[in-house]
Amino acid sequence: MSQGMVYNIQRMSTKDGPGIRTTVFLKGCPLRCPWCSNPESQHNEPQLLYFANLCTGCGACVQACPNHATSLENGLSKQRFELCQNCGACAEVCPAKAREMSGKIMQVEEVLKIVLKDTLFYENSGGGVTFGGGEPTQGGGNGEFICDLVEASHGEGLHVTLDTCGACPEDRFQRLLKNVDLLLFDCKHMDPEAHKNITGVDNKIILQNMAAALTSKAEVKIRMPLIPDINDSADNIAAMATFFKKFGKHEIEIMPYHTFGMKKYDALGRPHPAMRSYTPDELLVVRDRFTQHGLNTVLA
Ligand code: SF4
Ligand code: SF4
Repeated sequence: MSQGMVYNIQRMSTKDGPGIRTTVFLKGCPLRCPWCSNPESQHNEPQLLYFANLCTGCGACVQACPNHATSLENGLSKQRFELCQNCGACAEVCPAKAREMSGKIMQVEEVLKIVLKDTLFYENSGGGVTFGGGEPTQGGGNGEFICDLVEASHGEGLHVTLDTCGACPEDRFQRLLKNVDLLLFDCKHMDPEAHKNITGVDNKIILQNMAAALTSKAEVKIRMPLIPDINDSADNIAAMATFFKKFGKHEIEIMPYHTFGMKKYDALGRPHPAMRSYTPDELLVVRDRFTQHGLNTVLA
């Protein structure tokens, strides 16, 4: 069985599919969405997060760091991210949990052992396991890891959900489809050029995989991160309606942009995304655009 990079395993989750679930977050994503609320999920390597608000100024990290990437200033730790090699030595000694490493190599069996702890809850609630990211079909390592995770979970009789943007080689996606019960499938933009400009990758393979999912035996929920002035134009919504109605899909789960992930940008030493949230009135106007094209919107 294979191994890969996992950055979080959340038990008792109720938001990533039906019932009570365990959500396994794989690290790494081929897209670079500027609104990402889990920026630590993008790179397929361990990364240090430093939460300055938790620092008590003990200085243990200064002693531990072999790269002089941290120092004490005004009684608190100051991080120089440009010197940091993400070795994790400071996180091991920080007593205040102001420093943590995101990303750990895990074996399929290790992940499954954790997932199976809550089998009774899944049975009683109609839940199961969800694989998310990052982009689980490409993150976590090579594609074998997610394929093995999905196959092993399905083999245990679990309901399997894949939370994906669809940026996945076709043959791997077909393999995954055989063992997935539900896809939470992101739709970011219908225009290939706009998709590439925003995320760094065009949407050819994504739309191809989406069509494959929508004609498969798996249940599919379309989800859209809704970003002011980025993907909420009447033209884009009309193109979505044309595409999805061909497959009998008339409902989109929308995820309006929020700023909940900003602390993580600070903790990674990255600038905040240059995005804004909708006002309630603006959101009503945008939702009405979907209605006009025959698509019902549900807040995810
Ligand atoms: S993770 Fe970065 S800051 Fe921490 S000890 Fe390693 S190099 Fe230094
Ligand atoms: S080890 Fe933790 S609490 Fe101590 S100075 Fe460093 S970041 Fe702050």
